[in-house]
Amino acid sequence: MKAFAFERASDAAAAVAAGADGATFLGGGTNLVDLMKLGVAAPTRLVDVSRLPHDGIEETAGGLRIGAAVRNADLASHPLVRERYPVLSEALLAGASGQLRNLATVGGNLLQRTRCSYFQDVTKPCNKREPGSGCPARDGEHRNHAILGHSEHCVATHPSDMAVALAAIEATVEVLGPAGPRTIPIPGLHRLPGDKPQHDTVLNPGDLITAIELGGPAPRSVYRKVRDRASFAFAVLSVAAVVEPADVRIALGGVAHVPWRAEQAEAVLRGRELSPEAIAEAADAELSAAIPLRDNAFKVPLARNVLIRTLSELAP
Ligand SMILES: Cc1cc2nc3c(=O)[nH]c(=O)nc-3n(C[C@H](O)[C@H](O)[C@H](O)COP(=O)(O)OP(=O)(O)OC[C@H]3O[C@@H](n4cnc5c(N)ncnc54)[C@H](O)[C@@H]3O)c2cc1C
Ligand code: SF4
Repeated sequence: MKAFAFERASDAAAAVAAGADGATFLGGGTNLVDLMKLGVAAPTRLVDVSRLPHDGIEETAGGLRIGAAVRNADLASHPLVRERYPVLSEALLAGASGQLRNLATVGGNLLQRTRCSYFQDVTKPCNKREPGSGCPARDGEHRNHAILGHSEHCVATHPSDMAVALAAIEATVEVLGPAGPRTIPIPGLHRLPGDKPQHDTVLNPGDLITAIELGGPAPRSVYRKVRDRASFAFAVLSVAAVVEPADVRIALGGVAHVPWRAEQAEAVLRGRELSPEAIAEAADAELSAAIPLRDNAFKVPLARNVLIRTLSELAP
C-alpha cells in the first residue's frame, strides 16, 4: 500500500475543502481500504468523515432523515426503519456480514465500487480503473455482470443492496459540495457506464454525502436477494418492491451499473390489481430490454421469477 496522510475532519466544511483539494473521504473503510491494499485506489490524503456529527436518525415531517455516518447495522435495526421501511432493513441485513455492517457507513455503502474481478486486479486492463484500457469482462468472466443498460465500455454491476432498496423507496441524498448543499434523488445518483465507466456517480470532487432523506413510510415493502451462498455474498440478482394504494415501485439489483428502477414494469402495474397475469406481464415488459452476455443469460428468467415471487408476496 502506498503511504498516505491521514486526518479526521473537524467539520463538514473542512472535509469538503479537503476533498476539493484532492483528499479522499474515508467512511468505515471496508471498501476503500481493501482497494488500497489491492493497489486499485492510491489516495495520498485520507480524510475520515465517519466521526462527523452525521450519525443521527431523525423523524421529519414526511419520513426519516438518516445521517451519512450512521452505521449499516444501526440503520437496519432501528425500530422506525424496521416498522416503516422493511425493504431497507432487509436489504441492509442481506448485505455483507455482521462485523462489516457494524463498521460500514451509509455514505460509504452508497459509493462502494463494483466487484468486477478485472477492476480489482491491477494486472488486467479495465476501462473503469484505467480509462481506454479495455473491458476484458465482455468476452471473459462475466457471469455476475449486467444484463441491462451496459455499454461496450463496461458491463459491471453496482454492488450495494441498500441502494437498490433506496431506489424503490425514492430516497434523496443530501450532498454538501464546494458550491454549497444540494439534493440528488437516488435513482439519479448512480450513472450508466456509457463511454465514461470511470464515473460511478454524478458526484464531483469534494462532494460529501451528509444524509439520506426517506419520504413517506413504505410498510408494504420487501427485499429479495439471490446470492451464491447463504453467508455473505454480493447479489447475483435482487428485487426491492414497495406497494402503495395507487402505485408500485420496483428496483432491481445485480442487473446494471446502477440500482435499476423497473419503470416498464411499474407502468404496466399502475392502477391495476396485483394479479398473477398483471405481475407476469410487468416482469416481461421490464426484461424485454435485457441484453444478456454470453454467460449470464440465466439472469433473465431468474429476474422474471424473483420479480414475480416478490410482487406476489405483496399482493393482497
Ligand atoms: C467481504 C465483504 C462482503 C460484502 N458484501 C456486501 C453485500 O453483500 N452487499 C452490499 O451491499 N455490500 C457488501 N459489502 C460492501 C460493504 O457494504 C461496503 O464495503 C460498505 O458499505 C462501504 O461502507 P464504508 O463506510 O466502509 O465505505 P468506505 O470504504 O469508507 O468508502 C467507500 C467509498 O465511499 C466514499 N465515501 C465514504 N463516505 C463518504 C461520504 N460521506 N461522502 C462522500 N463519499 C464518501 C469513500 O471515499 C470511498 O470512495 C461487502 C464488503 C465486504 C468486504
Ligand atoms: S466490466 Fe467494467 S469494471 Fe469490469 S473490466 Fe469491464 S470496464 Fe472494468
